[in-house]
Amino acid sequence: MVSPVGNAAIRDRLQSALRAADRAGRLRREAAVLLSAVDPAGAAPAEAAAVVAFWQDLGLPGLVDIHTHFMPPNVLAKVWAFFEGGRGGVGRAWPIAYRLPEEERVALLRAFGVRRFSALLYPHKPGMAAWLNSWAAGFAARTPDALHSATFFAEPGAGAYVAEAIGAGARLFKAHLQVGAYDPRDETLDAVWGVLAEARVPVVVHCGSGPAPGRFTGPGPVSAVLARHPRLTMIVAHLGAPEYGEFLDLAERYPGVHLDTTMVFTGFMERLAPFPPALRPRLAAAAGRILLGSDFPNIPYPYLDQLEALARLDLGAAWLRAVCHDNAVRVLGL
Ligand SMILES: [Zn+2]
Repeated sequence: MVSPVGNAAIRDRLQSALRAADRAGRLRREAAVLLSAVDPAGAAPAEAAAVVAFWQDLGLPGLVDIHTHFMPPNVLAKVWAFFEGGRGGVGRAWPIAYRLPEEERVALLRAFGVRRFSALLYPHKPGMAAWLNSWAAGFAARTPDALHSATFFAEPGAGAYVAEAIGAGARLFKAHLQVGAYDPRDETLDAVWGVLAEARVPVVVHCGSGPAPGRFTGPGPVSAVLARHPRLTMIVAHLGAPEYGEFLDLAERYPGVHLDTTMVFTGFMERLAPFPPALRPRLAAAAGRILLGSDFPNIPYPYLDQLEALARLDLGAAWLRAVCHDNAVRVLGL
């Protein structure tokens, strides 16, 4: 039994503990503000100013980023743990530069002047895509500058829920052949590719064999899909890394094949899958087919790195304007 004196002592100790917790919270918030001013990877106003200067110098009204990720919080937490736990398949640390709450990530893209951005998400197993699509519809409804995005898996019913998502306003899909480990030629997907081609809704496909090959990555399996659905608008993620030349071949063969720049040409990616300088003239020739993508927020370096890496290619201001804005406006009908 606790005496009244004992109760008073406990109350005093609890109150002083609460005051200490308040002080700690205040210090943490102050530290976060200070950190954001000095750490380029930490939501820095200086980084936002540099990103804005980049597109203003090109005479653009802003950027369109075709490859950013927004997912249900529990799914995103797993993705971050996967990369930070060293399972990203790159054999080195992959710290998440923008590990922030959802509203801060959206605010940061707006501060960068990203006028429209995607909300790519993808399942790693059956029975998950329709649920992800319903979350994505909610995200699009509360985030008017986000492109309503959706996904699918090779499973019965995929054609029906993809058609349903398009009916609900989805204008961009994501297929991740490495994570999903399904065959894009699977018969359950034939209706999916058909519906996407018919509706002229683009699909971002991670089909390159980087950072680590999967059973169905590489140009072969998706080539068969394109042969069957030649009018499909397919945006090859990461410029098809590391099979850059083969995926540029596909873009040259099919008018609907595009490539996104996601992570390519950055110092981080150049160490993993260097872009061969000999292919640069083909990048220039494919100016109308290349779209800015960043992989925000799941990147181990500041957002600005992607833009500076594109500028370093030295393909000219017209090329940068097409890649960073105009191509996406055309492909997505913005
Ligand atoms: Zn991605």
